[in-house]
Amino acid sequence: MKRTLPNLLLDDETGELLTAGRRFVLLPAGFFITSLEQIEKIVGQAAPALLFRIGCGIGEEYVNRIVCAAKEYGETLDPDLLLLEAYENALYQSGFGIVRLRELDLEKPRIIVEVANSPTKDEKGCEMFRGIITGIATRDLGECVCSEVEHGETCVFKVVK
Ligand SMILES: [Zn+2]
Repeated sequence: MKRTLPNLLLDDETGELLTAGRRFVLLPAGFFITSLEQIEKIVGQAAPALLFRIGCGIGEEYVNRIVCAAKEYGETLDPDLLLLEAYENALYQSGFGIVRLRELDLEKPRIIVEVANSPTKDEKGCEMFRGIITGIATRDLGECVCSEVEHGETCVFKVVK
């Protein structure tokens, strides 16, 4: 099924694309691959760490967007619902592929996320994705460790404390 997404507003006066009151930019999927290649050319071996940090910032921004959207409706989301919304809806609806929360246990804590058909399919892209998943998790878990436990058509990431 193909569908248009609600909650995207284009402000004709400012040229800003807004969702939940936060500014976003639509970029071609090739932007990620080109950017990753250029980052690696410039910073070499530091690229994975840099890509991970960039990913963390992106993940944190997704969480902030969800928190802002909930506030607009006078709601605060429980941590498990916030994480579900961030992984399965925000990333998915932003075109990052099919993202599924395979396990969510905030007691342990342990989170397992699957990503299929990501626009950043190689291991460099996965390093950024590992950052995005971490950035989302840190809001409620604080400092945590995310590792990619399977890499392939579907990549699997595990977050633990
Ligand atoms: Zn991967």
